[in-house]
Amino acid sequence: MATTQSQSPREALVRRAPEPVAFDPTSWDRILQIVKGQHPSLVRAWFDTFVPRVLTNGVIQVTVATPAQLNFCQSQCQAPFTSAAQQITGRLVSVSFHCENLPRGIFSDGEAPLPLNPDYVFENFVTGPCNQLPHAASIAVATNLGQSYNPLFIHGGVGLGKTHLLQAICQTVLDRSRDARILYLSCDNFINQFINAVEANEMNQFRHRYRHVDLLVIDDIHFLAGKDRTQEEFFHTFNTLHQQQKQIVLSADCPPSEIPELEDRLISRFNWGLVARIDKPDIETRVAILQKKSRIRGLVLPEDVVNYVASMIDANTRELEGAITKLQGMASLQGGRIDLELAKKALGDMVTPEQRRISIGQILEAVTKYYAVKATDLQGKKRHKSIAFPRQVCMYLARRHTRFSLEEIGAHFGGRDHSTVIHAVRTIGDACTHKKDIANQIQEIDVQLTVG
Ligand code: ADP
Ligand code: MG
Repeated sequence: MATTQSQSPREALVRRAPEPVAFDPTSWDRILQIVKGQHPSLVRAWFDTFVPRVLTNGVIQVTVATPAQLNFCQSQCQAPFTSAAQQITGRLVSVSFHCENLPRGIFSDGEAPLPLNPDYVFENFVTGPCNQLPHAASIAVATNLGQSYNPLFIHGGVGLGKTHLLQAICQTVLDRSRDARILYLSCDNFINQFINAVEANEMNQFRHRYRHVDLLVIDDIHFLAGKDRTQEEFFHTFNTLHQQQKQIVLSADCPPSEIPELEDRLISRFNWGLVARIDKPDIETRVAILQKKSRIRGLVLPEDVVNYVASMIDANTRELEGAITKLQGMASLQGGRIDLELAKKALGDMVTPEQRRISIGQILEAVTKYYAVKATDLQGKKRHKSIAFPRQVCMYLARRHTRFSLEEIGAHFGGRDHSTVIHAVRTIGDACTHKKDIANQIQEIDVQLTVG
């Protein structure tokens, strides 16, 4: 039963009904407005499909449509909605989210709700020349488990949509069958669970878990590099699933043969099905992605703004998204309108891709100066640590700032092959996250490069 519009928001809550009743829609609209105003980057167009009801104990229970929406709301929306609801009703109410058709088969790492992002579905994935093949293959796999490409191996640089496609596969499979047994997790997670299982002497449970699924999806499989025992275990998992025609989907930042320290037998298996690469989006695709992403957030971006942002940001899609968030945030401070002027202000501190271009010579110069080493040494064969480390830094920076291929970078710095470059890029990248002193060094060299 619905409450009438004439009822005050307060009355809507004060009434004690034995059954949950529909929440006064006007009050709900006001709650939504507050959340939209205070947390613009949180808002999604599908918030308008929420069905709020009042429970007897002062809880406003909001029904969402899909498990992925539930996951998003439970992890990010509870507090903002609760605070808005308290503001509007003047009472100590809380907002909770639930979903009526939770799947039975999917699990990730035990208790956590589905680790799926509701935005990462096929409808929201923009295709272009850069990603046509992996996209089509993902749809084929999702609609025909184990029958089309097995495994499907998607690779490409960071922020180009690998995780999006992997999750879209999971969500499509779930839509088609609530009982599908899906295991979706990051490679890190797989490695940790393996180590834990070994330590706790629970390998039987571990194997049972991984070998009885219809779909196994592992994101960022390149983290298997150098993990011999996990590789061995994964090899058997792979074989068991593959023999039973159970679907396997993997992603990585490079093709199988370029993952360093990966057993040959795994490389060969990863190549059994389809290996599909995602490239950086071209300008048309970037425009389409910006339009789609802003629509998802219930935003309207004028055409000149979209074109401007797409021309300024060419690195990857995650950065396009960051730009939308920034625009949205600034717009909400300034009365909500987004125009070219605002966009220029928002992205003002960014330089154009043209200006950003840094040459390999500049990198060499900055690194030799910083570490007080000779350019001829960096470009030579010496393996001593005092040379090898700065050389790795050169490779890392060249990969980040130039468009040279791995082979070209390797050739430039001492005639190394592409796997040495991949290793260098990973080592330095890793050190930047885990070692503060190295992160600082790289940052200082970076400043040298970009400023002068
Ligand atoms: P990766 O896993 O390759 O690092 P993600 O899948 O996390 O990249 O993508 C980064 C962001 O870019 C996500 O928000 C994703 O939705 C978005 N994205 C990437 N490619 C596309 C695309 N073709 N269409 C729409 N959104 C995309
Ligand atoms: Mg990813």
